[in-house]
Amino acid sequence: MGKKLAVIGAGPGGLFAAKEAATLGLSVTVFEKGKIGENIACAEGFVDLLKLLPQPVAGICFPVDRLLITVKDQFDVDCTRLNLWMLDRRIWQQALAREAMARGCEVLEQHPITPDRLHELKKEYDWVIDASGARAVSAAAFRLSNLRKAVAAQYTLEGDFSNLAGKLKIVVLDAPCSGYGWVFPKSGTQANVGLGWFGKKKEALRIKGELETFLRKEGLDRYRVVRRSAGLIPIRPREKTVVDNVILIGDAAGFGSPLHGGGIDTACISGILAAKAAFADDPNWYEQSVHKLIGLRLKLEQKVLDLWEASDFEALNRYAASALAEDGTQSSWRKMLVPEAVVLRSILSGLIRGDWEKGIILDDLPVVAKVVLKAALAGRSKLMKSFEHGGIMNNRAPHDTNSLDRRSRKKRT
Ligand SMILES: Cc1cc2nc3c(=O)[nH]c(=O)nc-3n(C[C@H](O)[C@H](O)[C@H](O)COP(=O)(O)OP(=O)(O)OC[C@H]3O[C@@H](n4cnc5c(N)ncnc54)[C@H](O)[C@@H]3O)c2cc1C
Repeated sequence: MGKKLAVIGAGPGGLFAAKEAATLGLSVTVFEKGKIGENIACAEGFVDLLKLLPQPVAGICFPVDRLLITVKDQFDVDCTRLNLWMLDRRIWQQALAREAMARGCEVLEQHPITPDRLHELKKEYDWVIDASGARAVSAAAFRLSNLRKAVAAQYTLEGDFSNLAGKLKIVVLDAPCSGYGWVFPKSGTQANVGLGWFGKKKEALRIKGELETFLRKEGLDRYRVVRRSAGLIPIRPREKTVVDNVILIGDAAGFGSPLHGGGIDTACISGILAAKAAFADDPNWYEQSVHKLIGLRLKLEQKVLDLWEASDFEALNRYAASALAEDGTQSSWRKMLVPEAVVLRSILSGLIRGDWEKGIILDDLPVVAKVVLKAALAGRSKLMKSFEHGGIMNNRAPHDTNSLDRRSRKKRT
């Protein structure tokens, strides 16, 4: 008989893991505590930064062309080179579950797994994938340490959002804690509007009160609230993502972005990797692969969060202008001056990609961006410092600094 795999949780991570494992010939059972696609707390913006995943099979509200990012000034950022979609996750996840079942997976709804039951599953199955999200069942079963988490609250609103067609809006908060608000429309008349706090400095945390203030500032306080949700987003990867024959993926493994809180893409990628590792009985390969594809990317994003936390609002606006301004008000050297701005610019330009075997590929970036990112990944802070003080600028002409601008205007292929 073939190898048996239990998957706990039918979120994006669990469903991608189940589909991949069934395709590889494993006998898969998915245990979901509720109904698939119900009770999702998410802004539903899905960005596949490394371009590793297929376009969603269902539930796309629209492909996103522009990001409106407000710090003090507003920046209108072309993101057509990113794989970025606004999703209806309920429709998407239900379609993924149907695909998994068509490949032979057994999907059991209303089947919560307790820590005790997890210990039994470990004996009954060759492998268990824990895709149970931010409150991972493994954490309780194996007494794993707490992860650093961002806090998020959101309303789904009904009203006129026609001014945001094809766009997502992000507003960086001038608050005692690093965070941002979002207005992500699902249609001309409905949007997810929320607030997330990411930094360490969580003074007097009253996120729901802040969300009300954000709605007032955005002129949305009279819109009808159709749903309220809130949640935690783990934004630091666990040191160990395999315990015995249990592999942790997605939010359960702490793979949320420390920069923006998104975790759908990392959940799907880690799900695929976990299924391959279970098939090959090779948990070490899983840990190495998630490090190359997810760990390093999150490390880059953490650099931007560090700068964000260390900066006042005026400085943040200057960094954002360095990274995002397209109108020629920033000279080329300024766009290169702050390494974190280079990181942010490189991420948004859509030129970073991933390879399942090789990990993150920086080849498509201009030379200077490539050097800065490699230094950041290697933790060579001295080189980063020399960029910060414009050191490299004294020695070399930045001939290729505008190529990101040029390339980012090209349509996604
Ligand atoms: C307010 C908010 C907004 C967000 N917005 C975005 C966004 O716009 N874009 C983005 O990329 N990310 C966003 N995120 C993060 C994103 O939702 C998660 O990173 C992503 O859902 C992780 O996927 P997952 O499969 O690991 O876990 P989940 O999606 O949390 O899925 C876990 C599944 O496991 C089930 N489960 C839990 N416990 C058990 C158990 N004991 N037994 C059986 N089943 C169980 C749950 O019911 C659920 O179906 C947001 C998060 C929050 C809180």
